[in-house]
Amino acid sequence: MASPAPAPVRLPKNYQLILDIVQESGRGRHLTMNDVFAQTSARRPGIGYSTVYRGLVRLRELGMISEIVVPGAVSATYEPAAERHAHFRCTGCSAIEDVDYALPTRVLRRVADKSGFDIAAGTVTFEGLCRHCRAGVHTA
Ligand SMILES: [Zn+2]
Ligand SMILES: [Zn+2]
Repeated sequence: MASPAPAPVRLPKNYQLILDIVQESGRGRHLTMNDVFAQTSARRPGIGYSTVYRGLVRLRELGMISEIVVPGAVSATYEPAAERHAHFRCTGCSAIEDVDYALPTRVLRRVADKSGFDIAAGTVTFEGLCRHCRAGVHTA
C-alpha cells in the first residue's frame, strides 16, 4: 500500500516539542542529546531524559530527523532531516559542520559491483581544520 503523500503522523506533545527544537536549530547546527535535553527541559520543566531520548529515536525512525555519528566525535548529534550531505569534523575544536557533498550514485554502484554488496547508501566524513582553527583565531 504505497500512497503518494504519507498521512501526517500525530506525535505525542513531548515528541513534537523535540522535533520543533531540532527543526528550529536549523541545518548546519548539530545538537547533541544533551543540547536537545537542555532545550526541551527549558521549555517543559520536568521532562525526563529518557523521554527525550526515546523521542529522538522515534523521530529518527519516522525520518523526521537525522542522527549523525561522526567518527572521532564524542557523541552523536541530531539535525532536521535534509538532503543527503557530508560532514566535516574539525580536529582542532571538534566542531561538526555540514559539507554539501554526497557520494555520486555511480561511485556507489562501482563499489557495489566490486564488492558484491547491495549498497543502499554511503556517508562521507571529512576531517581537518575549520576556518577558525586554520586562521588560528578561535572565537567560540
Ligand atoms: Zn576548529
Ligand atoms: Zn549535517
